[in-house]
Amino acid sequence: MRGVSGLATLLADLWGRGREHYLGEWHFHPFAPPTPSGADIQQMKSISRSKQYQCREPVLLIIGGDPKAAWSLHAEVFSREERHPLRPSLPKMCST
Ligand SMILES: [Zn+2]
Repeated sequence: MRGVSGLATLLADLWGRGREHYLGEWHFHPFAPPTPSGADIQQMKSISRSKQYQCREPVLLIIGGDPKAAWSLHAEVFSREERHPLRPSLPKMCST
């Protein structure tokens, strides 16, 4: 479930335990390419600058396409100033 309600408290609690921390975001672009939107990019840049997240280089993972047919994956790491798309050795299009 995505959202921000209670997020700061949850992250502070997890960070304080020293066992888990925020890594990044993922979502699905139904029947569309997994290309990050302008809102996706702005959100990730904002997260990388946020002290509440305590994650200077969050990962964005997007899956796009038809989950019952062909889908593709986009992954990248955001830093405060730069984007670093990942070029995994996964095939661009996957079929189920
Ligand atoms: Zn998106």
